[in-house]
This record gives sequence, structure tokens and C-alpha cells, in this order.
Amino acid sequence: MNTGFDISTRLEETGFGERTGKPLGRTGVIRTPHGNIATPAFIPVGTKATVKAVLPEAVAATGAQAVLANAYHLYLQPGSDIVDEAGGLGRFMNWPGPTYTDSGGFQVLSLGSGFKKVLSREFSGSNRADTEVAAKKERLANVDDDGVTFRSHLNGDRHRFTPEVSMRIQHELGADIIFAFDELTTLLNSRAYQEEALERTRRWAWRCLGEHARLARERAGKPYQQLFGVIQGAQYEDLRRKAARDLGQMDVGGQRFDGFGIGGALEKENLGRIVGWVSEELPENRARHLLGISEPDDFFAAVEAGADTFDCVNPSRVARNAAIYSPDGRFNITRAQFKRDFRPLVADCDCYTCMHYSRAYLHHAFKAKEMISSTLATIHNERYTVRLVDSIRAAIEEKRYSEFKRETLARFAHGDWGEV
Ligand SMILES: [Zn+2]
Repeated sequence: MNTGFDISTRLEETGFGERTGKPLGRTGVIRTPHGNIATPAFIPVGTKATVKAVLPEAVAATGAQAVLANAYHLYLQPGSDIVDEAGGLGRFMNWPGPTYTDSGGFQVLSLGSGFKKVLSREFSGSNRADTEVAAKKERLANVDDDGVTFRSHLNGDRHRFTPEVSMRIQHELGADIIFAFDELTTLLNSRAYQEEALERTRRWAWRCLGEHARLARERAGKPYQQLFGVIQGAQYEDLRRKAARDLGQMDVGGQRFDGFGIGGALEKENLGRIVGWVSEELPENRARHLLGISEPDDFFAAVEAGADTFDCVNPSRVARNAAIYSPDGRFNITRAQFKRDFRPLVADCDCYTCMHYSRAYLHHAFKAKEMISSTLATIHNERYTVRLVDSIRAAIEEKRYSEFKRETLARFAHGDWGEV
């Protein structure tokens, strides 16, 4: 079957592994039944089977090669069985290209660990962590060795995810690339808890592989789905490396992971190092997806540490708040200085918005709270992001990555939007 991952070019200028000294970054191609993805690639997020505010044709016109939806949200609404009946996620949402779904673990466990509570405790100076981060009865989710019980954020109904349930949901959703069910921890959990959670994630990964193989047989004739194992281990080098070795070698009756997700809470400063540890231990010929990344300047750290794809909700999320990405950094289009500015958002941008609209029009549309404001800003930000990652890929292929990175980051950090 013609699915999988091939490396095209290695990045040999920077991003060497700490243990082996070998280069980690690369370009390549992920092949799926719905088309190929040239990597490194940015994967826009369409949480509920829609990239908010934008038609799929417009998403495709930004150059996006695939979209990532969320298994937890689609399980609750409309229900993965309905997406299955529709012919799978791509058919349901009118996106003909490759699709990803994450396992639902992140959303379910974000409910459970009360991330906001973690942060507020941290800022208030308390050391308490682990299961104390939110008292049990306050929580929306609880983890045990078999799975996670949680309450719907929509109506409070009780649900339970296990590795088997997550696999069934993701088979029904039918995305080309799906993820093993994992336990998300926070950076505030103790070392002992991280070890315990990591062992749970390892056992769940094993169960996911078995169930994935069983479902593929049961649903024979459906398009091939690649299952990615998820590497956790927080900020601990030994745990990250062990998790990567364990999942990289895992084989359940001949079923192995097609690729890997790198998950968990990552501090911006450590992102590159952590991805690097994991990349060094993983089998080289399988794709690596960094789950949930924040800002464009992180893309460089991720790519040179060996990430092939990454999803990022920010380009569309901040667009709906009038924040516009540009090579000179981010600016807010509602600022008064743009009221009579009839230039495009970004001078050399080739997106639909910049080809047809002015800063003054977007300023007006946001001020007037017109829906088109979100649509136009999202199109621009998604195109900006896709184009940046395309440029990173080209720079690697053309052996001028370091120079491109230096120039891009310098301009992004020192743009003059503050003084415009
Ligand atoms: Zn544009």
C-alpha cells in the first residue's frame, strides 16, 4: 500500500542531536489515500470539522495540505457514528485532502487537570501539584489505569474514553492520520507522577495498536489510516527518550506505529531540545508530528529538531481577534492608524484578502463586527503561516536554511509595527 513517509533532504547546517551529533531536521513526503503532504508542513486546525469562518476551498487556496480535527469534540457533537455514515471526516466537511484527528486525550485531560487552576496555583506560589491541582470533585475528568471518565463540557453528561474507545471513534471519523490515546500531564506534576503517567501511556499505546489492527480488519475496505503513537515525558530528558524508544520499537502482532506525535506541555524555551531528544530516539523513517505549537517563531526550533508536521490553532484564533501576522511581527488591525490605510495587510502577500482588500476595509469590518472580518483575517493568517513553512522547506532543500532563519526571525522580532 502506498502510504507512509519518505525523507527527501536532510538539514545539515544546524539542529544536531545532543547524543549522536547527527542532523535531525529533514524534508520529506507523507503519503495518504487522500494525497501527499510535503514536509515540513503546517496543518491548520479545524477542531469541529471546520476551519472556523473559512470555506474549505479558501483553506485549500492558502496552500494548506491537510487539516486536523478533534476527536473529543466530534464524538460529542455530532457523534463519530454520523461522521462515519457521511463517509468519513473529509467527505463530511468537504475537504478532499488528507485529514488528521487527535485522540481526544488532550481535551479530556485538560478538563481534568484544570489547567487554569494549575497556573493560578503556580502564580500564587503554592507547591502543590499532581492530583491536588484540582480537588477530585471539582474536576471534569479522572484518570485510572484503564482510561478516563469525564463530563461533557456541553451538557455535563458522563463519558468514558479508553484506548479502545478512542480508536473506535477515530476509525469512525476516518482521518488519514490518527493518534494513540495518551495521558496528558502538566509541567507541575511531580517526577513520580510523570513516571506513573508515562507507564500508563505506554500500556495504552500497546492497547491502541492492538485495537487499531482489529478495527482495520473489521472495517476492511476503508481507506488506510496511519496510527501515530504519542510521546510524553514532560520536561525530563530520560523520560522523553525512554518513551520514544518504547513506542518506536513497539510491535503488537506485526502492527507498529506509522509515525509519532510529540505531546505534552512544552515550555517555549525547551521546545527544540525536547523535540530533539525524541527525534534522536525515534526510527528515522517514520513521520513526527508536534502536537499544538503556538507561534511562527517556534516553527524553526521544531523543524530543526526533527518535527515534520505541526498543528497550530493560533493563526485562525488570533485572526478572529483582529491580530494580523506579517513578516514584521503581529499587529492589530483595529488600531486607529489603519482607518485610512488603503494598502493591503502585507505588501508582498499573495493571499485572497491582500489581493482584494485594504487595511482600511478590514479595520472597518472588525469595528463594525461584520462576520467577513474573521473570514478575511483568517485567510491571511493561514496563508502567511503556510507560506512561512513552505519557505522553510524550500530553504532546507536549497541549503540556505540558516540564513533564511536568521533573516526571518530578526525581521519578525524587530518589525516596526509598534511605530507605524
Ligand atoms: Zn495576505
